[in-house]
Amino acid sequence: MAKRRLSEQQKRRIQSNQKNRIRINQPEDSRLQLDESSTQTARVISHHGRQLFAETQDLKKIKCKIRQNLGDIACGDYVIVQQAIDTAIDSHAGESVSDASQYVVVAVKDRTNLLVKTGFGGAVKPVAANIGQLVIVTALKPKPNPYLIDRYLTAAENLPAKALVVINKVDLSDHENKKIIDDLTAIYSNIGYHVICTSTKQDIGLAALSESLSNTTSILVGLSGVGKSSLVKAILPKEEIKIGDTSTATGEGKHTTTVSALYHLKDNGIIIDSPGVRDFTPINNSIDEITNGFVDVRKYNGACKFSNCSHNNEPGCAMRQAVSDGLLDERRFNNYMRLLKEFSEQQ
Ligand code: GDP
Ligand code: ZN
Repeated sequence: MAKRRLSEQQKRRIQSNQKNRIRINQPEDSRLQLDESSTQTARVISHHGRQLFAETQDLKKIKCKIRQNLGDIACGDYVIVQQAIDTAIDSHAGESVSDASQYVVVAVKDRTNLLVKTGFGGAVKPVAANIGQLVIVTALKPKPNPYLIDRYLTAAENLPAKALVVINKVDLSDHENKKIIDDLTAIYSNIGYHVICTSTKQDIGLAALSESLSNTTSILVGLSGVGKSSLVKAILPKEEIKIGDTSTATGEGKHTTTVSALYHLKDNGIIIDSPGVRDFTPINNSIDEITNGFVDVRKYNGACKFSNCSHNNEPGCAMRQAVSDGLLDERRFNNYMRLLKEFSEQQ
């Protein structure tokens, strides 16, 4: 009798869960039933195929499967997850076997922004979502590349997100490259960006950097070797170094390039570090995006005598006039023109 009652209960539960039934390709998942009462929000740390790792609001790292047809999901996305119960009936005991350790992503929340890159064959791939700030890391070694900095700035302006310029390895400063630091600082702070000079070797600027990362989600971008990982390590609270990456949850080796991490800093700062972010190079999709990406140049957009001014040598070009009046930095203007040219050559 007891046995029959149990199986009736079982049936009812399966029926009531039917509407939540998920369709996942793997046959072993066809029994999974979702528990609506377990609904919670989590933030995506890494995403591979039909599986992702996320962090719940109580900072637990969970491994999730993904309901079909949710579209792109990126590192930094906020997702709705539910726990899945495996309702396989154990034929001997007649009881359900529940495995509460499985989670399923059932929805992706609206995002404030999405950073994308162009992948193989020109396909656009999501890199990171809900980014508050792009930290553009440059260093005395490898030599700073202002054109690349300007391209990263266009990415930040178009996301849109705040941008912060970091000049690392200032411990290597000597008479010659002190001028490089001063020039870069002047160019970018004159047009409204915050510039911080740092050294992880001599603990310079690390407190200022840490402070600039509070209360937002940042990603660090810049050439390999400029010191991004060293900076993250230097400003991370001690306990976070161990728990920050997904290798503990995934069993993936720490040194594989597939590891993504979401680090918590003091004062609610978050850094997302993922392979996609690490090898991210900025792309622009239109001339308007390029113009919007230059905060100092865009002020003069539409002010030229000819509405189709190419800013090369037409009379009445407001941009060239601004350069000769010393109102617009010539290097920035040249980088803007170079980016426009490269963009039109690609079309
Ligand atoms: P990433 O590729 O941008 O993540 O760069 P890493 O953090 O791996 O650093 C690249 C190299 O630069 C390593 O050998 C670091 O020890 C070195 N490095 C990092 N920060 C500094 C710094 O402030 N000063 C100097 N002199 N070297 C640094
Ligand atoms: Zn013009």
